[in-house]
Amino acid sequence: MARAAEDEAWHRGTCRLCGVGCRVELGVKNGVPFALRGVADARTNYGYLCMKGMHFWKCMGHKDRLTKPLYRERKADPFKEISWDKALDIAAERFSSAVKAHGGNAVAYYGSGQCLTEETYLFQKIMRGGLKTNNVEGNPRLCMASAVGGYMTSFGADEPIGGYADLEKAHCFFIIGSNTAEAHPVLFRRIMRRKLDNPEVKVINADPRVSQTSRIADKHLQFKPGTDLSLLNAMAKVIIDEKLHDQQFLGNYAVFKQGKEAKAASFDEFAQFVAPYTPEAAAKTCGGTITADDIRQVARWFATSKGTVSLWCMGINQRKQGVWANNLIHNLHILTGQLMKEGADSLSLTGQPNACGGVREAGGLCHILPGHRPVEKEKMRNQVEEAWGIPLGRIPAEPGLHTMDLFTAVNKGTVKAVWINCTSPAQSLPNCDLYNKGLASDDCFIVCTDIFKTRTTEYANLILPTAFHFEKTGVYGCTERRSQLTRKAIKAPGEAKPEVWIAREWAKRLATKLNDPVIAQCVKPFDGLEEDFALPQAIWDEYTQKLTKGRDNDLRGASYAVLGRMADGVQWPAPTEEFALKGGTVKKFVKGLDPMADSESKNDLPYQFYGPAHEDRKLWIWLRPQAEPSEVPDADYPFYLSTGRIIDHWHTMSMTGRIPELLRANPYAYVEINPKDAAKLGIKPGDMVEVRSRRGVNLLPAKVYEGPIEGMVFVYWHDQEQTRMINKVTKDDYDPASKEPEFKICAVQIQRVSGP
Ligand code: SF4
Repeated sequence: MARAAEDEAWHRGTCRLCGVGCRVELGVKNGVPFALRGVADARTNYGYLCMKGMHFWKCMGHKDRLTKPLYRERKADPFKEISWDKALDIAAERFSSAVKAHGGNAVAYYGSGQCLTEETYLFQKIMRGGLKTNNVEGNPRLCMASAVGGYMTSFGADEPIGGYADLEKAHCFFIIGSNTAEAHPVLFRRIMRRKLDNPEVKVINADPRVSQTSRIADKHLQFKPGTDLSLLNAMAKVIIDEKLHDQQFLGNYAVFKQGKEAKAASFDEFAQFVAPYTPEAAAKTCGGTITADDIRQVARWFATSKGTVSLWCMGINQRKQGVWANNLIHNLHILTGQLMKEGADSLSLTGQPNACGGVREAGGLCHILPGHRPVEKEKMRNQVEEAWGIPLGRIPAEPGLHTMDLFTAVNKGTVKAVWINCTSPAQSLPNCDLYNKGLASDDCFIVCTDIFKTRTTEYANLILPTAFHFEKTGVYGCTERRSQLTRKAIKAPGEAKPEVWIAREWAKRLATKLNDPVIAQCVKPFDGLEEDFALPQAIWDEYTQKLTKGRDNDLRGASYAVLGRMADGVQWPAPTEEFALKGGTVKKFVKGLDPMADSESKNDLPYQFYGPAHEDRKLWIWLRPQAEPSEVPDADYPFYLSTGRIIDHWHTMSMTGRIPELLRANPYAYVEINPKDAAKLGIKPGDMVEVRSRRGVNLLPAKVYEGPIEGMVFVYWHDQEQTRMINKVTKDDYDPASKEPEFKICAVQIQRVSGP
């Protein structure tokens, strides 16, 4: 017994299956994981976990894990096992020959919000500093680029001002375009708890579909897809007409802006702009079940509560007007002063565990360098080059290819080699069959680093097996500016390796093949370090100490030693160990709640601004009109299709589809149809139904219920099966501001094919 107890240990880390960032402990006995539990004193989740969180550890010892490098020269050939040495040589040879022949922009890295910060940072350093290309992208482009655009244009700085602590203080929740109950279940539990304990707390849900989230709402605003900009402008109009805006807050902190050039506007011009959005007019535009009185009611709740928190996710971001929709939510908060105080925040939710920490903060998108630095600013590029000890001017001035342009370039044959890390664009890109033609071509060499085979590895030349979570060490940064460390607890299976080791060893070979000492310089600080702890720690130290100093995401106080001591990590900014050990900054910009504000006093106002906010130090209220989605129903394709998430699965199901408990709960995708539409089309529950757009077709069983409004169908996007992969059907048009595609809306036909 004593011996067994000695061999059993609980290792602290972060859940990996959504952006909430729940703290967990992995139980390991004799080197084998056996359970996962929540950490009770962690402010992210207070010990609670959802179904996905409880089960994800079962991926660790799964029989399908990739354990050896696999290679094939041509995509029609079978894969063969090869050594790591050979695999890295081949990867270096193919990338360097593409660079020699066509320049750095002929290659690209496509990463993920699931990669550790250290991994994203190192890959982008090699690409930018080494291969002289900003072709560094990641799947967060598909889910939160519009939120970045919204924060940048409204507040001048990315990521929320507040965080989860506001949920327990809020008196009104405005949840729009988010099925929080299923996509962020542990946060939803906190919202429910707040409402159950305080029945006067209002929950507003604005969504075209009845969901588990709308079921607790005091008011569910069910509207026609793509009309919510009208709704948000109408709420602003009610607030102004009824004088519910906060004059003092506006006078101190806000200005009004319009157009591409961000021309100044006045309060009166804003009032005139929203004048046509009367509740009556908006209710007509929105359709569904919304009435003018509903709009008045929710605007009053929003404005007059002691604290309002808005939460949104893909329903707002994955839109042709995603940035505008984000701006309009921020507008309501700025107008009413529902910001920068306890219980009030404009809180965009994130889907992946490290979309914020790795990709947004550490340089994982084509237009952003580490530390929230825009690529196009020479001074910013030079700061990065100096930190890396490489010649000034090495990083190109032009942003790289964003996701849709990258895979278009693969189709055209102008990008010759792509490294795809821990994501599956073959399933997750909109209109995916179009882009899979390029991936299938032998003109583009594809490396996939992953733990399982996916739809994308079907197009790979080289598949490299990677260590999974808890099999390697590194940091995740969740939705609320919080960085948390997970240390290696168990050995990865077979020959699987951490990506930081893979990237370093690949870069050394690239340096030799291209005879370029600057590439070698990019990884020199990490030479010889063991991969389990010293290597990721050195990468984290370089990033935080050299590249977050003076930036809003200052993490210099959050060393591995400090993160290791904290139950739930550190919220940035945390420039010193002292701040970090207090947990960092609960509220950006807010004196008293923001430890930075005391030391960085900028003016005498009760709120302080810190970081690269707008130069005028103001919050910007935007004049943004209602605009049509990229595709709306017509006579040929008479239904709206919207896609989304369910509680049992995550992303492309490569993990949750392999966990029996989760698969049993929800084995395959279906199409939700409103009973009135089903009756008109003669569709009964369980019938097989064709869902066809101008781009592709799915064959799905019907689920008939009052979820979607009439004229709309809904399909969850996780299913990998070819006939149920809904991204064959979705449209690849995107927001010109954020380049995020409009997954949420397209037009389809529905046809019954056969009975159950
Ligand atoms: Fe994991 Fe998200 Fe569930 Fe928390 S809510 S346990 S982070 S999947």
